[in-house]
Amino acid sequence: MKKRAFWLIISPFLLFLLVDFAFPFKVKPSYSTLVYAADGTVLHAFLNEEDKWRLYTELEEITPTLRQTILQKEDKYFYYHFGINPVSLGKAFLRNTISGKRTSGASTITMQVVRLLEPRKRTYGSKLIEMGRSLQLELHYSKDEILQLYLNLIPYGSNIEGMKSASMLYFGKPPQLLSLAEITTLTIIPNRPSSLRLGQKNAYITQERNKWLRRFGQANLFDKQVIEDAISEPLNAYRREAPKAAPHLALRLKKENKGVPIIRTTLVPNRQAQAEQMTRNYVNRLRGLNIHNAAVIVVNNQTMKVEAYVGSADFNNPYDGGQVDGIRAVRSPGSTLKPLLYAVAFDKGLITPKSAVNDVPTNFGGFEPENFDRRFNGKVTVEFALANSLNIPAVKVLQNMTPSVLIEYLKKADFQTVKKQSKDLGLSMILGGCGVTLEELTRLFASFANEGRLQGLHYTTADYKSASSSFRITNPEQRKPDPLISPESAFLITNILTQITPPDLPNNFDNTYHLPRIAWKTGTSYGKKDAWSIGYNKHYTVGVWIGNFSGMGVPELNGANIATPLLFDIFNALDYNSPTGWFKPAADLTQRKVCAESGDIPSDFCQHQILDYAIMGISPTRKCQHLKWVFTDPAAHLSYCTECLPDSGYVRKLYPSLAPELIAYNELNRIPYQRIPPHNAACTRVLEVGAPIIVSPNDGSEYFLEGQQLQLACQAANDVREVYWYVNDQLLQKANPQTPLFFTPPLGKVKISCSDDKGRNTDIKINVIAVN
Ligand SMILES: [Zn+2]
Ligand SMILES: [Zn+2]
Repeated sequence: MKKRAFWLIISPFLLFLLVDFAFPFKVKPSYSTLVYAADGTVLHAFLNEEDKWRLYTELEEITPTLRQTILQKEDKYFYYHFGINPVSLGKAFLRNTISGKRTSGASTITMQVVRLLEPRKRTYGSKLIEMGRSLQLELHYSKDEILQLYLNLIPYGSNIEGMKSASMLYFGKPPQLLSLAEITTLTIIPNRPSSLRLGQKNAYITQERNKWLRRFGQANLFDKQVIEDAISEPLNAYRREAPKAAPHLALRLKKENKGVPIIRTTLVPNRQAQAEQMTRNYVNRLRGLNIHNAAVIVVNNQTMKVEAYVGSADFNNPYDGGQVDGIRAVRSPGSTLKPLLYAVAFDKGLITPKSAVNDVPTNFGGFEPENFDRRFNGKVTVEFALANSLNIPAVKVLQNMTPSVLIEYLKKADFQTVKKQSKDLGLSMILGGCGVTLEELTRLFASFANEGRLQGLHYTTADYKSASSSFRITNPEQRKPDPLISPESAFLITNILTQITPPDLPNNFDNTYHLPRIAWKTGTSYGKKDAWSIGYNKHYTVGVWIGNFSGMGVPELNGANIATPLLFDIFNALDYNSPTGWFKPAADLTQRKVCAESGDIPSDFCQHQILDYAIMGISPTRKCQHLKWVFTDPAAHLSYCTECLPDSGYVRKLYPSLAPELIAYNELNRIPYQRIPPHNAACTRVLEVGAPIIVSPNDGSEYFLEGQQLQLACQAANDVREVYWYVNDQLLQKANPQTPLFFTPPLGKVKISCSDDKGRNTDIKINVIAVN
C-alpha cells in the first residue's frame, strides 16, 4: 500500500520530467545590441535581428520600486507559486462559468512570459499547454530570471518591446532612473499597447496611471505623500531617437560580439563627442580643397584603453563614404614609420642622434628618392634627418640595416598588411611603400610613450576575456607588455619628435595658437592621398588621418599643414599642458662628447666636439674619420700613396674624407670643399678600391627608347679629375666626373664602362629596345 501511494505521488513528477526532456523549452529571445560608454551611459543602440527595439534589462536594473509595482499589478504571489496560481485559477474558472465570459486575470507572470515567447490562440487547450510550459520555465529558471524575461518581452506598441526599450525611447533614461509615476505608466501600457499609445494619448494615459497609483495607495504599497507626488507629476513621454554615438566602433564591436546584448566599451562620452564634433567641423572647412574625410583615435597610454574612436568625418554622409571606418582602412604610411626605423637603428648600435648622414641625391640600385620639398641638405645629423623627415637618410639607414630587420619589427608590432606584403617590400617601404592602418600606427606610437613596450588596444572592458578580434593579443604570454624597442631608444625618439621644426608645423601656424607639449610625426603618402599626424605625451596617444576614401589625391594634402592642426586641436581639448609630467632619460642612456662632423668618438684632429646621447654597451664606438692624412708635394699639386712616396720633399696634410655622392653634390651645387690633389701620375700602383660608380644608366636594366638620349653619370673619388666613358669598349668621351653626358645608345645589349684617371674601371650592361 505504502509503495503504491509513493508511486501515485511520484509518477506525475517523473512524467513531467519526461515531457520536459522530450519537449525542452528553449528560451532565446533575440535582443537589440546596446553599446555602453565607459561610464555606463548608452552610446549606441541597434535594432535586433527582427528589427525590433528589444533592449536587455539587467537584473540590477530592476529596482525595488519597479519590482513592487509590477508584482502588485500583475502577480502578487509571483514569489510563492510554481508558475500557476491555483487559487486565482479556480476563481477565474468560477467567474468564467458564471458570466460565460473569458477573462485573463488568472495568468501569472510566468504564464504571460510563455505567451510572449510562444503566442497561441486563446483556447482551453492552449491554456493547458501554457500551464505546462510555465512549470517547465519555473523548473529551469529562477524567479528573478523569469521576472527579467517578462520585463524584456512586454510589448509597448509598434516595434518597441521590453521595459528598458520603453524607458530609453520614451523617457530617455535607463530603468533605474525612472520615477514611480513613470514606472506606473510603463506597467499599464503592455496590457493595451495599441490604445495606450505613449506620446500620443498622454492625457488619457495619465488618467489610467493615476487610477493605478491610487490603488497602490489603498494597498499601502507606498507612502501617501509619495503617491500624491506621483499623481501630480506631469507625463513627459515622447518618442526619442535611439542613441547613435560612436557609430564605427559600435558597428565593429557588434560584429565582433555576435548575440551579446550589452557591450561595454572604454569610450569616454565627452571625449568621444568632442572628437566627433571637432573632426566633422574641421573636415567641413577642408571641403573647398576637395578633402572630404578624416579619422581620429585617442588612446590612454596608461590603460591602453581607446577613449575616442572617430572612423570618419560624418557617418551619415553616404557621398563621401561616411560609413567606411578610416581607423581600419589600409593606407600608405608616408613617413610615419621613420621613427621606428631610427629607433631600431639606435638599438642595433648603428647610429646615435648626432651621427652624420648625407642628404644628397643617391641612387639605390635604380631607386632615386627625393625629399618632400625636392631639396637636399648635404651632410646632416640623424636627429635633423628625422625631425625634418628627410628621405635619403632614411633610405640609407634602412639599406644599412636591411629592410628585413624593419619588417620583423613591424610584424612584431602586429602590422597585418605588412605581414602579408613582407616578401615584396624593399627600401621604398620607409617612404610609404607598404600598407598600414591608423589603428596600427597609433598603437606603435603608444609604445614610444610607454618606454618601448608594445601593448594591445582595449575597446571593451571584457577585452581580456574575449578574443574575438584578431587585433587583440590573445596569447597569454604576449599579454605582458612586450618590449618592441628599448626605453633608451624610445626616449631618444621622443626627444627628437618633440623638437619643434618648421617643416612639421603648419604653414599658417600663428603665435596665438596654443601649442600642446607633445612628440609628433607627420606623414604624406605618394600622390598626396593621405595626410597623417600622430602625437603623444605621457597620458595620451592621438592618431589623425585625413584624405579621401575614394583615394583621390589633392595637391594641398600633407601631414604638416592638413593633419597636424586637427591633432593640436584634439590635444588641446584633451590634455593641454598635461600635468602628468614629461619623459625622462632611461637608465642606460649616457651623454658623451662626439665629433660634430661625424657624430663619432673624436680623433686627435676633431676640433669641434658636441654632446650626444649614447646607449651604454650598444651605441657605436668607432673613431671619427672625418679627416684623413694625405701625402702631397709641398705645393699640394699632387698626392702620393705609400708606393710612390719619395724619400724626401713631401708634406703630410689632413684632408676631409668625403663620400663620392657628397663630392658630386658639392660639385653640382658649386659648394666649396677641400679637394685632395690628383694622385701622382708617375705612380704605377692601381688602387682597387674607389673605382667610379656608374649611377646612370642603371646596371642590368632595360631601356625602352623612342629616339631619345640616355644620360651617363658617375660618382668618383675625391682625387679624380677626369673619367673616360666607353660604349661597347669604344671610347665615347673624356669628361669631368661631375658632368653628366648624353648619348644615343645602339640597340640591343650594350656594355658601358667608366674609367678614372688612375685606371680604375667599372662596367655595366644594359638592354636597349626601340619603341616606335
Ligand atoms: Zn671628427
Ligand atoms: Zn701612388
